[in-house]
Amino acid sequence: MATVRGATLIAENLKQQGVDYMFGIVGFPVIPIASAAQRAGITYIGMRNEQAASYAAQAAGYLTGRPQACLVVSGPGVIHALAGLANAQSNCWPMILLGGASGVAQNGRGAFQEERQVMAASQFCKYAHAVEDARRIPFYVEQAVRTSFYGRPGAAYLDLPDDVILQEVDESEIRAVATIKDAPRPQAMDESIESALSALESAERPLVIVGKGMAWSRAEEEVRDFIDRTQLPFLASPMGKGVVPDDHPLSVGAARTLALKEADVIFLMGARLNWIMHFGLPPRFSKDVRIIQLDVSAEEIGTNVPAEVALVGDGKAVVSQLNRALTDRQWFYPVETKWRSELAAKAQDNQTSVQPMIDDDSSPMNYYRAFRDIREWLPDNVIIVSEGANTMDIGRTQMPNNNPRSRLDAGSYGTMGVGMGFAVAAATVHPDRPVVAVEGDSGFGFSGMEIETMCRYKLPIKIIILNNGGIGGGMDELPTDRPIPAPILTPRARYDKMIEGFGGKGFLVEDPKDLKATLTEAMAFDGPVIVNVLLDPKAGRKPQQFAWLTKEE
Ligand code: ADP
Ligand code: MG
Repeated sequence: MATVRGATLIAENLKQQGVDYMFGIVGFPVIPIASAAQRAGITYIGMRNEQAASYAAQAAGYLTGRPQACLVVSGPGVIHALAGLANAQSNCWPMILLGGASGVAQNGRGAFQEERQVMAASQFCKYAHAVEDARRIPFYVEQAVRTSFYGRPGAAYLDLPDDVILQEVDESEIRAVATIKDAPRPQAMDESIESALSALESAERPLVIVGKGMAWSRAEEEVRDFIDRTQLPFLASPMGKGVVPDDHPLSVGAARTLALKEADVIFLMGARLNWIMHFGLPPRFSKDVRIIQLDVSAEEIGTNVPAEVALVGDGKAVVSQLNRALTDRQWFYPVETKWRSELAAKAQDNQTSVQPMIDDDSSPMNYYRAFRDIREWLPDNVIIVSEGANTMDIGRTQMPNNNPRSRLDAGSYGTMGVGMGFAVAAATVHPDRPVVAVEGDSGFGFSGMEIETMCRYKLPIKIIILNNGGIGGGMDELPTDRPIPAPILTPRARYDKMIEGFGGKGFLVEDPKDLKATLTEAMAFDGPVIVNVLLDPKAGRKPQQFAWLTKEE
């Protein structure tokens, strides 16, 4: 009777359940899993730090619509990858972490890299379990994968002890499991559909907020149709950008602060009223704001602000219900209203206030000037990765997204260091699309070593570092006479030289007049590139009406 090894069962079951990509670092005891994964037809990408690998796996899951895997060694490997579990949970993105573990037979003895891994991972997961016998691998893989992406997506963890990975079992003892279908798409109640449309009809200053739940549910066609039918003004959350194109005439993203503050009825679609949305509370929102809330997770309804109408269901399914109901109603928000004019005027004001910075050709350059050339250069089908404080915040307003799932940033958890892993994932999953990572120098540094991964796999990622020599901002020179202030990094650090060491190409840009031509050259190079753009260490964001972090009034 033929036997099969644990490692092979893990790989084949992952492949059966739609896991096509695995990002990781090999070592004891998971080397056999990586080899088996390659034999099973899973693309394995070997990275330099488990943290980056765990970020890559979740971005790949978000981009493909099925959970993808991260493979790490026992103990410290799993601990490093917890960062990715937490980030995936916070973003509601699926991923499967496969953690090698010391053998069951050595539990409690002080084994090599022994750690209570299931306990550690549980806090950051929807599902965490140890596999105690290779014969049960099909069961556990199915549970982990399904739990990770059915309902609200999140992270799953499987603990794989050395002796289970190496266990040889008789094939006749393996019970095959069914292949997991696409996630069910529950619909909202018909009454709620009618109530939602009635609430919108009663609004004087309506606003639609499109979040990354809609991007995840692949609802772009339905949401675009809904916006076109209803003519409602909308804005997107950072990663909800592109579900409806940023350049859509009904986008009021450029008047975000006013739109949030004055709206009387808000249709919140697949977004949370968390810190990114200022909790839906005054002073950033009207105290009487009425909320229509669409979410796949019933538990989310009413968080921070009670919902007048709850649409519990899948984004794509529910918006198509709304669109069907609209054909009977034939209602749309009037073309000429005071609210529209106010929003348009505010958007114009905001544009006018940043224009001098955009036009400022002095050297060293400011953020807005750098984004002027970046914006014009970005290809239409680009995937933008972005992190860093000012780099990300200003970039969000200056770089348009016209396609869904085309922006990957620090997200709900506000994690710095995600960018390189996300870029590796995007380039792996979408080899047909350009991937551009716009990074602060600090943000880049967290996972900068992944440029070696990019070069090794010949991933033609274009990294632009907006380098102001600090976390936030820097100084022209490091002080010699006193301790270096905490957020200061090396001024004018030559990140562009690092990538040359691995076979990529580096460019240094000091004067804004050279930026455009350099970007063109970078795109033409068939491989990974760093364009190191030296910014004025004092450059900042346009003055904001409110501080970025909302506190209680
Ligand atoms: P954003 O940062 O864009 O506001 P969040 O991550 O805060 O997005 O919120 C996304 C919301 O989308 C979560 O509450 C999540 O439960 C919800 N969601 C996830 N999948 C779906 C889906 N298929 N349909 C509708 N909502 C979804
Ligand atoms: Mg910086």
